[in-house]
Amino acid sequence: MARHRAITGWSRWRQSSAPALVSVQRRAGIELVDTLTKLAHLVSPDEMVTGHQRGDYQAFCGDRFVAACLVEPGRGPCQRCREQAML
Ligand SMILES: [Zn+2]
Repeated sequence: MARHRAITGWSRWRQSSAPALVSVQRRAGIELVDTLTKLAHLVSPDEMVTGHQRGDYQAFCGDRFVAACLVEPGRGPCQRCREQAML
């Protein structure tokens, strides 16, 4: 009965090519701290790429901001971004 289990599990694993890094939230968001307000906004993975090229980032809440250094702890999470992420 359990003889073919490992083979089946392996083929299923191979089929799921998308990495499930941040799939817990409805909208996947990456935290970035605003240089001015020191709030930790959420941005989409796509925006991480386009924002990096543009020089600023569009957060879930609608704010456009310049990201602080990644070691900046920030003042706290942007609640409007969190609300948008849960929609
Ligand atoms: Zn925000």
